[in-house]
Amino acid sequence: MGIPDEEIAQVRAATDLVALISEHSALKKVGRRWSGLCPFHTEKTPSFSVNAEEGFYYCFGCHASGDAITFVRAVDHLDFVDAVRLLADRAGITLHEDQESGRDHQRRSQLLEAMERAVQWYHDRLLRAPDAGPARDYLRSRGYDGDIVRQFRLGWAPDDWDALAKALKLPEQVLSDAGLGFVNRRGRAQDFFRARVLFPICDPSGRPVALGGRILPLRPGQPPPPRPEPKYKNSQESPIYSKRRTLYGLNWAKQGIIAQGEVVVCEGYTDVIGCFQAGVPWAVATCGTALAEEHFTLLRNFAKRIVLAYDADAAGQSATSRVYEWERKHEVDVVVADLPGGTDPGDLARIDPAALARAVTEARPFLQFRVDRMLGAGDLTTAEGRARAAEAALTAVAEHPDDLVRDQYVMQLADRCRLEATRLRGHLEHLRAHPPTERPGRRRTWGRGDEPPPGEYPEDDGDRFDGDPAPTRRVASAPGDGVRSGPGLEALKLAVHRPEETADRVHAVLFTDPVQREAFVALLEHDSVHEAVETASPEVATLLRRVIVEEPMAGDPELGDPVDSVVTVLLRGATRRALADMEKQARTGGDSWQATAAETAQVRLWLDQLEDPAAGRDAADRLVVWLSRREPEG
Ligand SMILES: [Zn+2]
Repeated sequence: MGIPDEEIAQVRAATDLVALISEHSALKKVGRRWSGLCPFHTEKTPSFSVNAEEGFYYCFGCHASGDAITFVRAVDHLDFVDAVRLLADRAGITLHEDQESGRDHQRRSQLLEAMERAVQWYHDRLLRAPDAGPARDYLRSRGYDGDIVRQFRLGWAPDDWDALAKALKLPEQVLSDAGLGFVNRRGRAQDFFRARVLFPICDPSGRPVALGGRILPLRPGQPPPPRPEPKYKNSQESPIYSKRRTLYGLNWAKQGIIAQGEVVVCEGYTDVIGCFQAGVPWAVATCGTALAEEHFTLLRNFAKRIVLAYDADAAGQSATSRVYEWERKHEVDVVVADLPGGTDPGDLARIDPAALARAVTEARPFLQFRVDRMLGAGDLTTAEGRARAAEAALTAVAEHPDDLVRDQYVMQLADRCRLEATRLRGHLEHLRAHPPTERPGRRRTWGRGDEPPPGEYPEDDGDRFDGDPAPTRRVASAPGDGVRSGPGLEALKLAVHRPEETADRVHAVLFTDPVQREAFVALLEHDSVHEAVETASPEVATLLRRVIVEEPMAGDPELGDPVDSVVTVLLRGATRRALADMEKQARTGGDSWQATAAETAQVRLWLDQLEDPAAGRDAADRLVVWLSRREPEG
């Protein structure tokens, strides 16, 4: 990394974190901190908290935490260096980067600048040039007015070999590296796009990084071109453009996505524009690739609900098992908008915009969509038809990784196909044990003809689809610091927010939780909380950021000083644990029995005195000393 540490610190200090975050979520002052809806997960009541003085944020819902740089990285999907550059720009700080990364940065800036100039030039051509007349007619026929053309910065690449190259006079290397042109066999610069309507593709902050171009449809009577061209042509990958990490429209849709907690994913540029026209300005499109893991990584920071708005067949055939995997891994819900037969969002926006908006509102869970389609394709009026439809739908249900979800669909199928749920369950378990893809060509039958492997149905009473699958609940993954609560957490909060009151009363030995203890030691060892966070392990850093934004409990005056009561609780916990250790050691023959007994009695006496108003403080101090002596050296 090429930016000096002092300058990174300077950028951090110069950034107003509350102002920065306010661009993504409305913050309200609550006590000494700021609070609002979390920009990283969908919620109705605020659990996102910002400590302006220390420059940290923490979400009590999804446990997102960090400082200005982390925030920019997450929201704008930048790497560390780019995030620092962006914040430096905002704050008007000039960075002195080392040469190598500086050159890299310079190269990217050059390409971005070239792309920006090209987009503007193409856009002006579309708005003004006489040769763009047919393009303007075409766009009007699609229902695009001037506002749409300007909002999405649509452009027109003239029917010419080198119009852009000539007009912009870019160095050949820049022209080709940005994907705007190339050097032809005669050694002359040539444009990449020719006679196409252009859709600029931007990064999340709105800088154009690539272009997608569409040919105009043939007008009546117009002869077909000698060499047929593909309908769409997109920029190649470049140093500023990665297909798998770019979503068309995200820059315009970002605010809508955050406000809605939902993102509509389409397949084409015109689908995105159609969604905006239909009053759904939270739509994006993949750029000529299938929805990939990287897209989920990008989207989950903005919304927890992902609506697939593909044409119906494509949606049903999405990489199913991966969708479930991504749902679980990224904690998002994937739902499907059911678009009326054969339409895509772009068409539907033109024909019936209200229907498009409705399809998005009424989007169903991915599995529900597939089940509905399978049942819809079957004949549910006959017994045979219902059995076949149920079997088909059951194969879809079997792919879902969560047994509780599967079971709900089993009950639904039983109801809709008038079959017994227990029979369906048995069949489902069988399908899961033998996924059809693993045994190609195997005839899947509905009933008794299928021989399960030995031992699968231990009590084979003749009805082998009667087994109870005995649901096992999936163990929820630990939410980072969600379990780190209680008096230790309270003590940490006090140590951060009232350091003078805790200075000689809270000690490392009081913490039985290793992460809490590490966090406390980090606070002791550093001059500022910032330094402590910076050098800490990720787990400890998250905990520290949390306690920074969390006020200590007010404390009941009747119960006395909050520091006293927290210290007392912690002391009891730590002491009991130490006593238990001691007894264990004595049993295994470490210390002499008498010595241990005397020591134990003394410690128990101090424990009893803890509540005593006169002797409590003294007993606490002695216990701390005793606990410290028991610590392993070093
Ligand atoms: Zn959150």
